[in-house]
Amino acid sequence: MPTDTQAIKDRIDIVQLIGEYITLKKAGVNWKANCPFHHEKSPSFMVHQEKQIWHCFGCSKGGDIFSFVQEIEGLDFIEALKLWANRAGVRIETHTSEVNQSQRNRILEINSAAAYFFHHFFLEIPGAEVARKYLEDRKLTKQTIEEWQVGYVPDQWDLLTRYLLKKGFGINDLIAAGLTIKRDGADEATGRGFYDRFRGRVMFPLSDAHGNIVGFTGRVLVETEHSGGKYVNTPETIVYDKSRVLYGLHKAKTEIKAKDLSVVVEGQMDVVACHQAGMRNVVAASGTALTPEQVKLLKRYSNNVAMAFDADAAGQSAGKRGAGIAMEEGMNVKVIQLPKGFAKDADECIKKDPKVWFAAVGSATGVLEWYFERILSSVNRSSPTEKQQAVAILLPEIARVPFGVVRDEWLKRLGEALLIDPGVLRDEVKRAKKAPLRSPQTQVTSEKAPSAVLVRESQYDILVKDFWSFLVKFPDSFAALYPELKPVYFVNTAWHGLYEIAEKVYNNEQKLDLASVRQILAEKGREQTLDLLLLMPMKNTSEFSSLEAGKELASVLSRIKEEWRKQRGKEIQQKIMEAERAKDKATVEALLQELQTL
Ligand SMILES: [Zn+2]
Repeated sequence: MPTDTQAIKDRIDIVQLIGEYITLKKAGVNWKANCPFHHEKSPSFMVHQEKQIWHCFGCSKGGDIFSFVQEIEGLDFIEALKLWANRAGVRIETHTSEVNQSQRNRILEINSAAAYFFHHFFLEIPGAEVARKYLEDRKLTKQTIEEWQVGYVPDQWDLLTRYLLKKGFGINDLIAAGLTIKRDGADEATGRGFYDRFRGRVMFPLSDAHGNIVGFTGRVLVETEHSGGKYVNTPETIVYDKSRVLYGLHKAKTEIKAKDLSVVVEGQMDVVACHQAGMRNVVAASGTALTPEQVKLLKRYSNNVAMAFDADAAGQSAGKRGAGIAMEEGMNVKVIQLPKGFAKDADECIKKDPKVWFAAVGSATGVLEWYFERILSSVNRSSPTEKQQAVAILLPEIARVPFGVVRDEWLKRLGEALLIDPGVLRDEVKRAKKAPLRSPQTQVTSEKAPSAVLVRESQYDILVKDFWSFLVKFPDSFAALYPELKPVYFVNTAWHGLYEIAEKVYNNEQKLDLASVRQILAEKGREQTLDLLLLMPMKNTSEFSSLEAGKELASVLSRIKEEWRKQRGKEIQQKIMEAERAKDKATVEALLQELQTL
Protein backbone atom coordinates (compact mmCIF):
# COMPACT_ATOMS: atom_id res chain seq x y z
CA MET A 1 0.00 0.00 0.00
CA PRO A 2 2.65 2.62 0.86
CA THR A 3 4.11 2.22 -2.62
CA ASP A 4 0.63 2.73 -4.13
CA THR A 5 0.04 5.94 -2.22
CA GLN A 6 3.47 7.21 -3.19
CA ALA A 7 2.88 6.32 -6.84
CA ILE A 8 -0.36 8.29 -6.81
CA LYS A 9 1.25 11.23 -5.04
CA ASP A 10 4.02 11.26 -7.63
CA ARG A 11 1.52 11.56 -10.45
CA ILE A 12 -1.02 13.94 -9.02
CA ASP A 13 -0.17 17.53 -8.25
CA ILE A 14 -1.79 18.74 -5.06
CA VAL A 15 -2.53 22.18 -6.49
CA GLN A 16 -4.33 20.65 -9.43
CA LEU A 17 -6.25 18.23 -7.22
CA ILE A 18 -7.39 20.79 -4.65
CA GLY A 19 -8.01 23.21 -7.49
CA GLU A 20 -10.71 20.87 -8.75
CA TYR A 21 -12.66 21.51 -5.58
CA ILE A 22 -11.96 25.11 -4.66
CA THR A 23 -10.46 28.15 -6.30
CA LEU A 24 -6.82 28.56 -5.35
CA LYS A 25 -4.93 31.81 -5.76
CA LYS A 26 -1.19 32.13 -5.98
CA ALA A 27 0.38 33.69 -2.88
CA GLY A 28 4.12 33.84 -3.18
CA VAL A 29 5.45 30.30 -3.30
CA ASN A 30 2.17 28.99 -1.89
CA TRP A 31 -1.45 28.88 -2.96
CA LYS A 32 -4.30 30.09 -0.81
CA ALA A 33 -8.08 29.90 -0.65
CA ASN A 34 -11.02 30.36 1.68
CA CYS A 35 -11.09 27.18 3.70
CA PRO A 36 -13.76 24.72 2.55
CA PHE A 37 -13.95 23.20 6.04
CA HIS A 38 -14.79 26.21 8.13
CA HIS A 39 -16.54 29.51 7.67
CA GLU A 40 -14.23 32.42 6.85
CA LYS A 41 -14.02 35.65 4.90
CA SER A 42 -10.31 35.93 4.28
CA PRO A 43 -8.22 32.96 3.17
CA SER A 44 -6.28 31.00 5.75
CA PHE A 45 -6.23 27.75 3.80
CA MET A 46 -2.74 27.26 2.33
CA VAL A 47 -1.32 24.74 -0.10
CA HIS A 48 2.40 24.15 -0.35
CA GLN A 49 3.04 22.88 -3.82
CA GLU A 50 6.60 21.83 -3.25
CA LYS A 51 5.92 19.78 -0.15
CA GLN A 52 2.56 18.61 -1.54
CA ILE A 53 0.76 19.40 1.70
CA TRP A 54 -2.07 21.68 2.78
CA HIS A 55 -2.94 23.38 6.03
CA CYS A 56 -5.64 25.69 7.33
CA PHE A 57 -4.54 28.24 9.90
CA GLY A 58 -8.14 28.87 10.84
CA CYS A 59 -9.33 25.40 11.78
CA SER A 60 -5.97 23.60 11.97
CA LYS A 61 -6.93 20.89 9.53
CA GLY A 62 -4.23 19.73 7.16
CA GLY A 63 -2.40 16.88 5.50
CA ASP A 64 -1.70 15.45 2.07
CA ILE A 65 -3.89 14.86 -0.98
CA PHE A 66 -5.53 11.83 0.60
CA SER A 67 -6.55 13.54 3.80
CA PHE A 68 -7.96 16.39 1.69
CA VAL A 69 -10.04 14.03 -0.44
CA GLN A 70 -11.19 12.09 2.61
CA GLU A 71 -12.24 15.28 4.33
CA ILE A 72 -14.02 16.93 1.44
CA GLU A 73 -15.69 13.84 -0.01
CA GLY A 74 -16.50 12.24 3.30
CA LEU A 75 -14.71 9.05 2.24
CA ASP A 76 -12.51 6.63 4.12
CA PHE A 77 -8.87 6.26 3.15
CA ILE A 78 -9.30 3.29 0.81
CA GLU A 79 -12.11 4.99 -1.08
CA ALA A 80 -10.10 8.18 -1.41
CA LEU A 81 -7.21 6.16 -2.69
CA LYS A 82 -9.38 4.35 -5.21
CA LEU A 83 -10.90 7.56 -6.46
CA TRP A 84 -7.56 9.13 -7.27
CA ALA A 85 -5.76 5.95 -8.30
CA ASN A 86 -8.02 5.79 -11.34
CA ARG A 87 -7.20 9.36 -12.22
CA ALA A 88 -3.49 8.80 -11.76
CA GLY A 89 -3.55 5.66 -13.84
CA VAL A 90 -2.10 3.71 -10.92
CA ARG A 91 -3.33 0.18 -10.44
CA ILE A 92 -3.67 -0.63 -6.80
CA GLU A 93 -2.03 -4.03 -6.79
CA THR A 94 -2.04 -5.20 -3.22
CA HIS A 95 -5.60 -4.50 -2.25
CA THR A 96 -7.43 -4.62 -5.54
CA SER A 97 -9.82 -7.39 -4.56
CA GLU A 98 -10.65 -5.82 -1.25
CA VAL A 99 -11.35 -2.46 -2.81
CA ASN A 100 -13.42 -3.82 -5.66
CA GLN A 101 -15.49 -5.89 -3.38
CA SER A 102 -16.59 -3.07 -1.18
CA GLN A 103 -20.33 -2.78 -1.49
CA ARG A 104 -20.03 0.88 -2.32
CA ASN A 105 -18.17 0.07 -5.50
CA ARG A 106 -20.48 -2.79 -6.39
CA ILE A 107 -23.47 -0.47 -6.12
CA LEU A 108 -21.81 2.17 -8.28
CA GLU A 109 -21.22 -0.53 -10.88
CA ILE A 110 -24.82 -1.68 -10.69
CA ASN A 111 -26.04 1.90 -11.11
CA SER A 112 -23.88 2.39 -14.11
CA ALA A 113 -25.12 -0.88 -15.67
CA ALA A 114 -28.71 0.19 -14.98
CA ALA A 115 -28.13 3.59 -16.58
CA TYR A 116 -26.74 1.84 -19.65
CA PHE A 117 -29.81 -0.42 -19.76
CA PHE A 118 -32.29 2.47 -19.44
CA HIS A 119 -30.45 4.57 -22.02
CA HIS A 120 -30.20 1.84 -24.63
CA PHE A 121 -33.75 0.80 -24.06
CA PHE A 122 -34.71 4.39 -24.72
CA LEU A 123 -32.66 4.65 -27.91
CA GLU A 124 -33.28 1.29 -29.50
CA ILE A 125 -36.42 -0.49 -28.36
CA PRO A 126 -39.67 0.17 -30.25
CA GLY A 127 -41.57 0.14 -26.94
CA ALA A 128 -39.76 3.33 -25.96
CA GLU A 129 -41.30 5.32 -28.80
CA VAL A 130 -43.69 7.05 -26.39
CA ALA A 131 -40.74 8.29 -24.32
CA ARG A 132 -38.78 9.41 -27.36
CA LYS A 133 -41.81 11.35 -28.54
CA TYR A 134 -42.17 12.91 -25.11
CA LEU A 135 -38.59 14.20 -25.00
CA GLU A 136 -38.78 15.29 -28.61
CA ASP A 137 -41.83 17.38 -27.70
CA ARG A 138 -39.82 18.84 -24.87
CA LYS A 139 -37.19 19.82 -27.45
CA LEU A 140 -34.28 17.74 -26.17
CA THR A 141 -31.71 17.01 -28.87
CA LYS A 142 -30.18 13.60 -29.47
CA GLN A 143 -26.85 14.88 -28.28
CA THR A 144 -28.33 16.16 -25.01
CA ILE A 145 -30.08 12.86 -24.38
CA GLU A 146 -26.79 11.05 -24.86
CA GLU A 147 -24.82 13.51 -22.81
CA TRP A 148 -27.17 13.14 -19.82
CA GLN A 149 -27.76 9.43 -20.42
CA VAL A 150 -31.49 9.93 -20.29
CA GLY A 151 -33.27 6.58 -20.42
CA TYR A 152 -36.59 4.82 -20.30
CA VAL A 153 -37.96 1.75 -18.64
CA PRO A 154 -41.31 0.32 -19.75
CA ASP A 155 -44.07 -0.55 -17.34
CA GLN A 156 -43.15 -4.17 -16.61
CA TRP A 157 -42.52 -5.85 -13.30
CA ASP A 158 -38.90 -6.94 -13.24
CA LEU A 159 -37.23 -6.17 -16.55
CA LEU A 160 -34.23 -4.44 -15.01
CA THR A 161 -33.85 -6.86 -12.11
CA ARG A 162 -33.70 -9.82 -14.51
CA TYR A 163 -31.21 -8.01 -16.74
CA LEU A 164 -28.89 -7.18 -13.85
CA LEU A 165 -29.08 -10.67 -12.37
CA LYS A 166 -28.14 -12.07 -15.75
CA LYS A 167 -25.15 -9.72 -15.74
CA GLY A 168 -23.98 -11.47 -12.58
CA PHE A 169 -24.92 -8.95 -9.89
CA GLY A 170 -26.33 -10.29 -6.62
CA ILE A 171 -29.96 -9.73 -5.65
CA ASN A 172 -29.00 -8.26 -2.28
CA ASP A 173 -26.81 -5.67 -3.96
CA LEU A 174 -29.68 -4.76 -6.30
CA ILE A 175 -31.89 -4.20 -3.27
CA ALA A 176 -29.14 -2.21 -1.54
CA ALA A 177 -28.83 -0.08 -4.70
CA GLY A 178 -32.53 0.76 -4.38
CA LEU A 179 -33.33 -0.58 -7.83
CA THR A 180 -35.07 -3.77 -6.77
CA ILE A 181 -37.80 -4.16 -4.18
CA LYS A 182 -38.34 -7.37 -2.24
CA ARG A 183 -41.87 -8.58 -1.54
CA ASP A 184 -42.72 -10.40 1.68
CA GLY A 185 -42.07 -14.07 1.15
CA ALA A 186 -39.72 -13.51 -1.79
CA ASP A 187 -37.56 -16.48 -2.66
CA GLU A 188 -33.93 -15.87 -3.52
CA ALA A 189 -33.40 -19.36 -4.89
CA THR A 190 -36.10 -19.05 -7.57
CA GLY A 191 -35.82 -15.29 -7.90
CA ARG A 192 -39.58 -14.95 -7.38
CA GLY A 193 -41.04 -12.03 -5.49
CA PHE A 194 -38.60 -9.31 -6.56
CA TYR A 195 -39.65 -6.37 -8.69
CA ASP A 196 -38.27 -3.11 -10.13
CA ARG A 197 -38.67 0.16 -8.24
CA PHE A 198 -38.78 2.10 -11.51
CA ARG A 199 -41.46 1.08 -14.01
CA GLY A 200 -42.89 3.00 -16.94
CA ARG A 201 -40.69 6.05 -16.43
CA VAL A 202 -38.24 8.34 -18.17
CA MET A 203 -35.02 7.88 -16.23
CA PHE A 204 -32.48 10.53 -15.25
CA PRO A 205 -29.25 9.22 -13.68
CA LEU A 206 -28.06 11.25 -10.68
CA SER A 207 -24.30 11.65 -10.37
CA ASP A 208 -21.96 12.82 -7.66
CA ALA A 209 -19.46 15.60 -8.34
CA HIS A 210 -17.15 13.11 -10.04
CA GLY A 211 -19.71 11.67 -12.40
CA ASN A 212 -20.30 8.41 -10.50
CA ILE A 213 -23.95 7.44 -10.88
CA VAL A 214 -25.33 7.29 -7.36
CA GLY A 215 -29.06 7.07 -8.04
CA PHE A 216 -31.96 7.85 -10.37
CA THR A 217 -35.01 9.99 -10.74
CA GLY A 218 -37.83 8.42 -12.73
CA ARG A 219 -40.50 10.64 -14.19
CA VAL A 220 -43.80 9.10 -15.12
CA LEU A 221 -45.06 9.80 -18.66
CA VAL A 222 -48.74 9.43 -18.00
CA GLU A 223 -49.99 9.96 -14.49
CA THR A 224 -52.58 7.41 -13.41
CA GLU A 225 -53.92 6.27 -10.06
CA HIS A 226 -51.42 3.44 -10.02
CA SER A 227 -48.34 5.27 -11.29
CA GLY A 228 -47.24 6.14 -7.77
CA GLY A 229 -46.35 9.82 -8.05
CA LYS A 230 -44.96 11.96 -10.83
CA TYR A 231 -41.39 11.40 -9.67
CA VAL A 232 -39.84 8.36 -8.02
CA ASN A 233 -36.32 8.65 -6.64
CA THR A 234 -33.71 6.19 -5.47
CA PRO A 235 -34.13 5.84 -1.71
CA GLU A 236 -31.25 6.57 0.64
CA THR A 237 -28.45 4.04 -0.06
CA ILE A 238 -24.81 3.85 0.95
CA VAL A 239 -23.92 5.81 -2.19
CA TYR A 240 -26.97 8.08 -2.40
CA ASP A 241 -27.79 10.75 0.14
CA LYS A 242 -30.21 13.13 -1.52
CA SER A 243 -29.18 16.02 0.70
CA ARG A 244 -25.66 15.80 -0.75
CA VAL A 245 -26.39 15.43 -4.45
CA LEU A 246 -26.85 18.30 -6.85
CA TYR A 247 -28.17 17.31 -10.25
CA GLY A 248 -25.72 18.30 -12.99
CA LEU A 249 -22.84 19.31 -10.71
CA HIS A 250 -20.33 16.96 -12.37
CA LYS A 251 -20.97 18.70 -15.69
CA ALA A 252 -21.36 22.19 -14.27
CA LYS A 253 -18.49 22.49 -11.79
CA THR A 254 -15.79 23.66 -14.19
CA GLU A 255 -18.06 26.32 -15.65
CA ILE A 256 -19.22 27.40 -12.18
CA LYS A 257 -15.61 28.09 -11.30
CA ALA A 258 -14.90 29.82 -14.61
CA LYS A 259 -17.98 32.06 -14.33
CA ASP A 260 -17.62 32.36 -10.55
CA LEU A 261 -21.36 31.76 -10.32
CA SER A 262 -23.65 28.80 -9.91
CA VAL A 263 -27.22 28.89 -11.14
CA VAL A 264 -29.69 26.78 -9.17
CA VAL A 265 -32.94 25.78 -10.86
CA GLU A 266 -35.71 23.54 -9.65
CA GLY A 267 -35.80 20.35 -11.71
CA GLN A 268 -33.80 18.03 -13.93
CA MET A 269 -35.51 19.26 -17.08
CA ASP A 270 -34.54 22.82 -16.21
CA VAL A 271 -30.88 21.83 -15.81
CA VAL A 272 -30.80 19.90 -19.05
CA ALA A 273 -32.55 22.69 -20.96
CA CYS A 274 -30.06 25.27 -19.65
CA HIS A 275 -27.03 23.20 -20.57
CA GLN A 276 -28.49 22.54 -24.00
CA ALA A 277 -29.02 26.26 -24.49
CA GLY A 278 -25.35 26.85 -23.69
CA MET A 279 -25.58 27.89 -20.05
CA ARG A 280 -23.50 25.25 -18.33
CA ASN A 281 -23.05 26.50 -14.77
CA VAL A 282 -26.49 25.19 -13.82
CA VAL A 283 -27.51 22.60 -11.21
CA ALA A 284 -30.69 21.55 -9.37
CA ALA A 285 -31.41 20.33 -5.86
CA SER A 286 -33.53 17.40 -6.90
CA GLY A 287 -36.94 17.81 -5.42
CA THR A 288 -36.11 19.57 -2.15
CA ALA A 289 -35.00 22.94 -0.91
CA LEU A 290 -31.22 23.36 -1.01
CA THR A 291 -29.69 21.67 2.02
CA PRO A 292 -26.70 22.95 4.03
CA GLU A 293 -24.64 20.07 2.58
CA GLN A 294 -25.53 21.05 -0.99
CA VAL A 295 -24.70 24.68 -0.25
CA LYS A 296 -21.27 23.66 1.05
CA LEU A 297 -20.77 21.64 -2.11
CA LEU A 298 -21.60 24.67 -4.28
CA LYS A 299 -19.38 26.91 -2.20
CA ARG A 300 -16.35 24.88 -3.16
CA TYR A 301 -16.64 26.17 -6.69
CA SER A 302 -17.95 29.69 -6.24
CA ASN A 303 -19.33 31.90 -3.50
CA ASN A 304 -21.96 33.37 -5.81
CA VAL A 305 -25.27 31.68 -6.49
CA ALA A 306 -28.29 32.78 -8.52
CA MET A 307 -31.50 30.92 -7.78
CA ALA A 308 -34.68 30.53 -9.78
CA PHE A 309 -37.84 29.70 -7.84
CA ASP A 310 -40.76 28.00 -9.53
CA ALA A 311 -43.82 30.19 -9.72
CA ASP A 312 -46.06 28.00 -7.54
CA ALA A 313 -46.31 28.40 -3.77
CA ALA A 314 -44.36 25.21 -2.99
CA GLY A 315 -41.56 26.29 -5.33
CA GLN A 316 -41.40 29.75 -3.77
CA SER A 317 -41.33 28.37 -0.29
CA ALA A 318 -38.65 25.76 -1.01
CA GLY A 319 -36.63 28.33 -2.95
CA LYS A 320 -36.73 30.80 -0.11
CA ARG A 321 -35.61 28.24 2.41
CA GLY A 322 -32.68 27.31 0.18
CA ALA A 323 -31.77 30.96 -0.27
CA GLY A 324 -31.85 31.39 3.51
CA ILE A 325 -29.46 28.51 4.03
CA ALA A 326 -27.07 29.81 1.37
CA MET A 327 -27.15 33.25 3.05
CA GLU A 328 -26.36 31.73 6.42
CA GLU A 329 -23.35 30.02 4.83
CA GLY A 330 -22.13 33.45 3.80
CA MET A 331 -22.87 33.01 0.10
CA ASN A 332 -23.77 35.89 -2.08
CA VAL A 333 -27.32 34.95 -3.09
CA LYS A 334 -29.28 36.37 -5.99
CA VAL A 335 -32.82 35.67 -7.14
CA ILE A 336 -33.64 35.18 -10.82
CA GLN A 337 -36.92 36.79 -11.79
CA LEU A 338 -38.72 35.84 -14.95
CA PRO A 339 -40.96 38.46 -16.51
CA LYS A 340 -44.35 38.17 -14.81
CA GLY A 341 -46.53 35.54 -16.45
CA PHE A 342 -43.94 34.68 -19.10
CA ALA A 343 -43.01 31.18 -17.98
CA LYS A 344 -43.31 29.07 -14.88
CA ASP A 345 -39.74 27.73 -14.88
CA ALA A 346 -36.38 27.79 -16.67
CA ASP A 347 -37.29 24.98 -19.05
CA GLU A 348 -40.46 26.69 -20.25
CA CYS A 349 -38.73 30.05 -20.48
CA ILE A 350 -35.93 28.67 -22.66
CA LYS A 351 -38.41 26.94 -24.91
CA LYS A 352 -40.26 30.21 -25.42
CA ASP A 353 -37.17 32.37 -25.76
CA PRO A 354 -33.69 31.53 -24.46
CA LYS A 355 -32.71 35.21 -24.60
CA VAL A 356 -35.25 36.01 -21.91
CA TRP A 357 -33.71 33.38 -19.66
CA PHE A 358 -30.15 34.59 -20.20
CA ALA A 359 -31.25 38.15 -19.51
CA ALA A 360 -33.07 37.12 -16.34
CA VAL A 361 -29.97 35.34 -15.01
CA GLY A 362 -27.81 38.31 -15.98
CA SER A 363 -30.00 40.72 -14.08
CA ALA A 364 -30.69 38.57 -11.01
CA THR A 365 -31.39 40.66 -7.89
CA GLY A 366 -29.69 40.30 -4.51
CA VAL A 367 -31.93 38.20 -2.29
CA LEU A 368 -32.49 40.88 0.34
CA GLU A 369 -33.23 43.48 -2.33
CA TRP A 370 -35.70 40.99 -3.73
CA TYR A 371 -37.41 40.61 -0.36
CA PHE A 372 -37.41 44.36 0.20
CA GLU A 373 -38.97 45.05 -3.18
CA ARG A 374 -41.69 42.48 -2.75
CA ILE A 375 -42.62 43.33 0.80
CA LEU A 376 -42.12 47.06 0.99
CA SER A 377 -43.68 48.08 -2.30
CA SER A 378 -47.17 48.03 -0.89
CA VAL A 379 -46.80 48.61 2.84
CA ASN A 380 -48.87 51.42 4.20
CA ARG A 381 -46.35 53.31 6.33
CA SER A 382 -48.99 54.85 8.52
CA SER A 383 -50.36 51.48 9.57
CA PRO A 384 -48.48 49.99 12.54
CA THR A 385 -49.94 46.55 11.79
CA GLU A 386 -48.69 46.52 8.23
CA LYS A 387 -45.29 47.73 9.32
CA GLN A 388 -45.18 45.02 11.93
CA GLN A 389 -46.06 42.40 9.32
CA ALA A 390 -43.32 43.62 7.02
CA VAL A 391 -40.76 43.62 9.84
CA ALA A 392 -41.83 40.12 10.87
CA ILE A 393 -40.90 38.83 7.43
CA LEU A 394 -37.81 40.90 6.70
CA LEU A 395 -36.04 40.85 10.04
CA PRO A 396 -35.43 37.08 10.19
CA GLU A 397 -34.01 37.25 6.66
CA ILE A 398 -31.64 40.05 7.59
CA ALA A 399 -30.67 38.16 10.74
CA ARG A 400 -29.36 35.33 8.55
CA VAL A 401 -26.56 37.47 7.15
CA PRO A 402 -23.47 36.24 8.98
CA PHE A 403 -21.50 39.48 8.61
CA GLY A 404 -22.28 42.25 11.07
CA VAL A 405 -21.44 45.18 8.82
CA VAL A 406 -23.64 43.93 6.01
CA ARG A 407 -26.44 43.13 8.42
CA ASP A 408 -26.32 46.61 9.85
CA GLU A 409 -26.53 48.17 6.42
CA TRP A 410 -29.77 46.31 5.76
CA LEU A 411 -31.18 47.27 9.12
CA LYS A 412 -30.54 50.91 8.28
CA ARG A 413 -32.31 50.51 4.96
CA LEU A 414 -35.26 48.80 6.60
CA GLY A 415 -35.46 51.52 9.22
CA GLU A 416 -35.46 54.21 6.54
CA ALA A 417 -38.06 52.44 4.45
CA LEU A 418 -40.48 51.97 7.35
CA LEU A 419 -39.61 55.05 9.40
CA ILE A 420 -38.45 52.94 12.32
CA ASP A 421 -35.45 53.79 14.47
CA PRO A 422 -32.69 51.37 13.31
CA GLY A 423 -31.67 51.01 16.96
CA VAL A 424 -34.97 49.29 17.68
CA LEU A 425 -34.39 46.92 14.78
CA ARG A 426 -30.86 46.17 15.96
CA ASP A 427 -32.23 45.19 19.36
CA GLU A 428 -34.75 42.96 17.65
CA VAL A 429 -32.07 41.19 15.67
CA LYS A 430 -29.95 40.72 18.78
CA ARG A 431 -32.90 39.16 20.51
CA ALA A 432 -33.72 37.08 17.46
CA LYS A 433 -30.18 35.76 17.35
CA LYS A 434 -30.27 34.81 21.01
CA ALA A 435 -33.61 33.04 20.77
CA PRO A 436 -35.65 32.11 17.70
CA LEU A 437 -37.72 35.10 16.72
CA ARG A 438 -40.99 33.31 17.18
CA SER A 439 -40.44 31.76 20.56
CA PRO A 440 -42.84 33.06 23.19
CA GLN A 441 -40.03 34.19 25.53
CA THR A 442 -38.94 36.90 23.12
CA GLN A 443 -42.42 38.29 23.44
CA VAL A 444 -42.52 38.47 27.22
CA THR A 445 -39.00 39.44 28.19
CA SER A 446 -39.07 42.78 26.47
CA GLU A 447 -38.22 44.65 29.65
CA LYS A 448 -37.18 47.57 27.48
CA ALA A 449 -40.44 48.67 25.99
CA PRO A 450 -40.05 49.40 22.29
CA SER A 451 -39.57 53.11 21.98
CA ALA A 452 -40.97 53.37 18.50
CA VAL A 453 -43.81 52.14 16.42
CA LEU A 454 -42.81 48.53 16.56
CA VAL A 455 -45.88 46.83 17.97
CA ARG A 456 -45.08 43.67 19.81
CA GLU A 457 -47.13 40.70 18.77
CA SER A 458 -48.66 38.60 21.49
CA GLN A 459 -48.32 34.87 21.36
CA TYR A 460 -51.93 34.77 20.32
CA ASP A 461 -51.23 37.05 17.36
CA ILE A 462 -48.39 34.80 16.31
CA LEU A 463 -50.57 31.70 16.46
CA VAL A 464 -53.22 33.35 14.36
CA LYS A 465 -50.65 34.58 11.86
CA ASP A 466 -49.16 31.09 11.62
CA PHE A 467 -52.63 29.72 11.05
CA TRP A 468 -53.29 31.99 8.08
CA SER A 469 -49.83 31.63 6.70
CA PHE A 470 -50.28 27.88 6.72
CA LEU A 471 -53.85 27.98 5.46
CA VAL A 472 -53.06 29.99 2.33
CA LYS A 473 -50.43 27.41 1.43
CA PHE A 474 -52.95 24.61 1.86
CA PRO A 475 -56.32 26.27 1.14
CA ASP A 476 -58.06 22.93 0.60
CA SER A 477 -57.87 22.35 4.35
CA PHE A 478 -60.39 25.13 4.92
CA ALA A 479 -63.45 22.94 4.37
CA ALA A 480 -62.54 20.61 7.22
CA LEU A 481 -61.65 23.50 9.56
CA TYR A 482 -64.62 25.73 8.80
CA PRO A 483 -67.11 24.16 11.26
CA GLU A 484 -64.59 24.83 14.05
CA LEU A 485 -63.86 28.42 13.11
CA LYS A 486 -65.45 31.33 14.94
CA PRO A 487 -65.15 34.95 13.82
CA VAL A 488 -64.37 35.96 17.42
CA TYR A 489 -61.01 34.21 17.21
CA PHE A 490 -59.90 36.88 14.75
CA VAL A 491 -61.81 39.96 15.83
CA ASN A 492 -58.99 41.75 17.60
CA THR A 493 -56.22 40.63 15.27
CA ALA A 494 -54.76 41.92 12.03
CA TRP A 495 -56.48 39.10 10.18
CA HIS A 496 -60.10 39.86 10.96
CA GLY A 497 -60.85 41.22 7.51
CA LEU A 498 -59.26 38.21 5.91
CA TYR A 499 -61.48 35.85 7.87
CA GLU A 500 -64.59 37.60 6.63
CA ILE A 501 -63.37 37.39 3.05
CA ALA A 502 -62.40 33.74 3.38
CA GLU A 503 -65.81 32.90 4.82
CA LYS A 504 -67.58 34.77 2.05
CA VAL A 505 -65.56 33.04 -0.69
CA TYR A 506 -66.06 29.67 0.94
CA ASN A 507 -69.81 30.09 1.21
CA ASN A 508 -70.04 31.20 -2.42
CA GLU A 509 -67.79 28.58 -3.94
CA GLN A 510 -67.75 25.72 -1.41
CA LYS A 511 -63.98 26.02 -1.35
CA LEU A 512 -61.37 28.57 -0.36
CA ASP A 513 -60.37 29.78 -3.79
CA LEU A 514 -57.31 31.97 -3.36
CA ALA A 515 -57.85 33.72 -6.69
CA SER A 516 -61.23 34.96 -5.45
CA VAL A 517 -59.76 35.97 -2.10
CA ARG A 518 -57.08 37.87 -3.93
CA GLN A 519 -59.62 39.63 -6.09
CA ILE A 520 -61.65 40.85 -3.13
CA LEU A 521 -58.49 41.99 -1.36
CA ALA A 522 -57.39 43.78 -4.51
CA GLU A 523 -60.68 45.67 -4.63
CA LYS A 524 -59.87 46.95 -1.16
CA GLY A 525 -56.31 47.74 -2.19
CA ARG A 526 -55.01 45.08 0.20
CA GLU A 527 -53.78 42.47 -2.22
CA GLN A 528 -50.45 42.38 -0.48
CA THR A 529 -51.97 40.72 2.60
CA LEU A 530 -52.10 37.46 0.70
CA ASP A 531 -48.57 37.80 -0.67
CA LEU A 532 -47.27 38.48 2.80
CA LEU A 533 -48.85 35.30 4.05
CA LEU A 534 -47.60 33.25 1.14
CA LEU A 535 -44.09 34.58 1.66
CA MET A 536 -44.10 34.08 5.38
CA PRO A 537 -41.58 31.38 6.21
CA MET A 538 -42.99 28.20 7.69
CA LYS A 539 -40.70 25.38 8.49
CA ASN A 540 -40.94 22.45 6.10
CA THR A 541 -44.06 23.73 4.39
CA SER A 542 -43.31 22.22 1.03
CA GLU A 543 -42.77 18.82 2.50
CA PHE A 544 -46.19 18.54 4.08
CA SER A 545 -48.70 16.35 2.28
CA SER A 546 -52.16 17.89 2.22
CA LEU A 547 -53.22 15.33 4.82
CA GLU A 548 -50.42 16.31 7.19
CA ALA A 549 -51.10 19.98 6.53
CA GLY A 550 -54.73 19.45 7.52
CA LYS A 551 -53.67 17.86 10.79
CA GLU A 552 -51.14 20.57 11.51
CA LEU A 553 -53.70 23.28 10.86
CA ALA A 554 -56.24 21.56 13.08
CA SER A 555 -53.67 21.49 15.86
CA VAL A 556 -52.81 25.18 15.43
CA LEU A 557 -56.52 25.97 15.47
CA SER A 558 -57.06 24.06 18.70
CA ARG A 559 -54.24 26.05 20.30
CA ILE A 560 -55.87 29.25 19.08
CA LYS A 561 -59.14 28.15 20.64
CA GLU A 562 -57.48 27.31 23.91
CA GLU A 563 -55.63 30.63 24.04
CA TRP A 564 -58.76 32.51 23.11
CA ARG A 565 -60.74 30.77 25.86
CA LYS A 566 -58.08 31.68 28.41
CA GLN A 567 -58.00 35.30 27.36
CA ARG A 568 -61.72 35.65 27.11
CA GLY A 569 -62.06 33.97 30.51
CA LYS A 570 -59.79 36.56 32.07
CA GLU A 571 -61.67 39.41 30.41
CA ILE A 572 -64.99 38.07 31.66
CA GLN A 573 -63.72 37.69 35.20
CA GLN A 574 -62.50 41.26 35.07
CA LYS A 575 -65.88 42.42 33.87
CA ILE A 576 -67.69 40.41 36.51
CA MET A 577 -65.65 42.16 39.18
CA GLU A 578 -66.50 45.52 37.70
CA ALA A 579 -70.20 44.64 37.41
CA GLU A 580 -70.26 43.43 41.00
CA ARG A 581 -68.72 46.66 42.15
CA ALA A 582 -71.43 48.51 40.24
CA LYS A 583 -73.99 46.13 41.72
CA ASP A 584 -75.22 45.36 38.21
CA LYS A 585 -76.75 41.95 38.86
CA ALA A 586 -78.10 41.33 35.37
CA THR A 587 -74.71 41.82 33.77
CA VAL A 588 -73.02 39.58 36.34
CA GLU A 589 -75.59 36.91 35.54
CA ALA A 590 -75.01 37.20 31.79
CA LEU A 591 -71.24 37.14 32.19
CA LEU A 592 -71.35 34.07 34.41
CA GLN A 593 -73.49 32.43 31.75
CA GLU A 594 -70.94 33.21 29.09
CA LEU A 595 -68.08 32.04 31.28
CA GLN A 596 -69.73 28.64 31.59
CA THR A 597 -70.25 28.18 27.90
CA LEU A 598 -66.77 29.20 26.80
ZN1 LIG B 1 -10.19 25.86 7.91
